[in-house]
Amino acid sequence: MSTAHLKIDLTALAENWRALNALSACPAAAVIKANGYGLGAERVATTLASAGARQFFVAAAEEGVIVRQALGPGPTIFILSGHMPGDTALIGAHDLTPLLNSAEQLRRHLDSTPDHGFGVQLDSGMNRLGMEPGEWAGLRAQILARAPALVMSHLACADEPDHAMNARQLRAFAEMTDGIDAPRSLAATGGILLGPDYHFDLTRPGIGLYGALPYADARPVVALDLPVIQIRDVQPGETVGYGNTWTAPRPCRIATVAAGYADGLIRAIGAGGVRLFAGDTACPVVGRVSMDLITADVTDLKDDPAALAILGPRQTVDDLADAAGTIGYEILTSLGGRYRREYLT
Ligand SMILES: *Cc1c(COP(=O)(O)O)cnc(C)c1O
Repeated sequence: MSTAHLKIDLTALAENWRALNALSACPAAAVIKANGYGLGAERVATTLASAGARQFFVAAAEEGVIVRQALGPGPTIFILSGHMPGDTALIGAHDLTPLLNSAEQLRRHLDSTPDHGFGVQLDSGMNRLGMEPGEWAGLRAQILARAPALVMSHLACADEPDHAMNARQLRAFAEMTDGIDAPRSLAATGGILLGPDYHFDLTRPGIGLYGALPYADARPVVALDLPVIQIRDVQPGETVGYGNTWTAPRPCRIATVAAGYADGLIRAIGAGGVRLFAGDTACPVVGRVSMDLITADVTDLKDDPAALAILGPRQTVDDLADAAGTIGYEILTSLGGRYRREYLT
């Protein structure tokens, strides 16, 4: 078998939710958009529902359907993109709760599903999604009369605790919502760590559940082992891989493992000092990452390895992200469809 082995620790996932729920001055929801940040929305949803999560957030109505089918009736499933053309039947049939982002979405919702619950997303300064303060002021009475399930906004800089934008958005959100009866939500993972002023009535952790920054105390959730297909001896002066970017400085043993950029191990990690691990021993990646293969220098290993780990206790999602000049979110959500996924419970 030459498919790599992705291990997803559902116990760690549940513990991360419990810890972020305990850090929140209110209940924590769970953000499971993009197929549960790449780990599998169904297993993530059922695990976190068992841990106690009652509210879930996804990006699109189609994702909400998958989560509803996994969870059954009961939990609230919020749709961050709101009520888009074509969503009406899904919202009704699967009891999804759109977070309306504009007057246009409000009109669509009230025209098509007037008796179906909804929430509202407000723009407190990020300028990405949500009603602008002026738009909200005009619609507020009409919306609040219908008892929205949630009034929320999103922070642009919460992973930088000292950024002045955090307090500015908190003020803007408070100005728009102080005194309303509807439940309010502002904080994702980064916002939880900013402290209780940011928590309101519901927090919305995503990345921290999956074991990555900015939640530095998270338990790692993913491990990834890559089978070794072939090992060869390379003489000093010989090159390895596309473009001859690496030349052996000494007699080397080179292992070729079965995963590459088509599996989300993006080509940029090749230049960033990523290593593959045989237990605790680090083997540097050498040469370019190709579509299905990566080469590593295993000269210092006593025995030829059957597999090497690229994600595990010695190298995290955030280490890979650093090496590639990106963020843990992108590494996780890029994890490929080709892996043999194993859920550890
Ligand atoms: C993705 C997202 C979250 C979760 O953010 P994390 O940084 O992953 O915790 C929360 N709220 C909104 C609106 C989002 O788009």
